[in-house]
Parts: sequence; structure tokens; C-alpha cells
Amino acid sequence: MEKDCMFCKIAHKIVPSSVVYEDDDVIAFLDISQTTKGHTLVISKEHYDNFLNTPQEVMHKVMDVAQRIGQAQMLMLGAKGVNILSNVNKEAGQSVYHFHVHVIPRYLASEGFEISMKENPDAKSLSLPALASTIKKGL
Ligand code: 5GP
Ligand code: ZN
Repeated sequence: MEKDCMFCKIAHKIVPSSVVYEDDDVIAFLDISQTTKGHTLVISKEHYDNFLNTPQEVMHKVMDVAQRIGQAQMLMLGAKGVNILSNVNKEAGQSVYHFHVHVIPRYLASEGFEISMKENPDAKSLSLPALASTIKKGL
């Protein structure tokens, strides 16, 4: 446990939260911001900084729970869609450095949460085969 980590404190019940699901490795609780009604965070109880440096077995357990939470939001809250999101580092919007997955139920397209993927104006000058091969080398 990292003593200054808010999500470690939530995982260890030092700080209260509205828990939706819990087992030995994973806990899911309502995000304080409630970007949309039912917005839930799924975290590993063990501290890892982000999605990319979480051991695969733990990451799989968190993603399994995220899927189930999304299904429950559709079934029980009347959500029409769900966004599943994990921010890695501040450039991607991460503000709490303890691995977490947002499960954000969607009711309308125009709500407090929006992902906008604009076309890169430089897209035409990028070589997609070269880019693909560069990424492939890192696998
Ligand atoms: P990030 O920006 O790192 O992807 O997401 C962090 C999320 O944690 C934010 O959506 C924020 O509202 C939520 N959050 C931060 N502090 C607390 C807290 O003390 N309790 C709960 N339930 N959520 C928190
Ligand atoms: Zn932590």
C-alpha cells in the first residue's frame, strides 16, 4: 500500500466509498464526480501506477469486473451505452496514479462526458505501414 495514494486508502477502507463490487484482488466503487449517473471506477487492490505497468493477470481481473459492471449498468440503470476508459499519465488525463478503469454509462450522446477523435490534419503525410512496423517492433 502506498501511504499517500487515495485509491490505496479506498481499497483498504481507510477512506469510505460506495462499493459496487469487491473480491480479494479487485474493488469497484462509484466515482465521486458521477460524470454520468453510475460512473464507476474499477481498481486493483494492489498498487500499480497505471494500466501499462499492471501485471497481466491482475489487469485481466480488473477488465473482467469492468465488463460485468458495464453489463449491470445497461441492465439496471437503463444505460444505452458504456465507455470503458483507462487514462495513462497526465498527457492522457490521468490524475490518480493507481491503476483504474472508468466504466461510464451513457444515456444520451450529449452528456458531461465526450470523447472526440478528430482527424489528424497530418494524417495523409503519415506512412501507415511504416508506423505499424515501428509499433510492431515494440511488441
Ligand atoms: P483519472 O483522471 O486519473 O483517469 O480518474 C480519476 C478519477 O478519480 C476522477 O474521475 C475522480 O473524480 C475520481 N476520484 C478522485 N478522488 C476520488 C475519491 O476520493 N473518491 C472517489 N470515489 N473518486 C475519486
Ligand atoms: Zn495506490
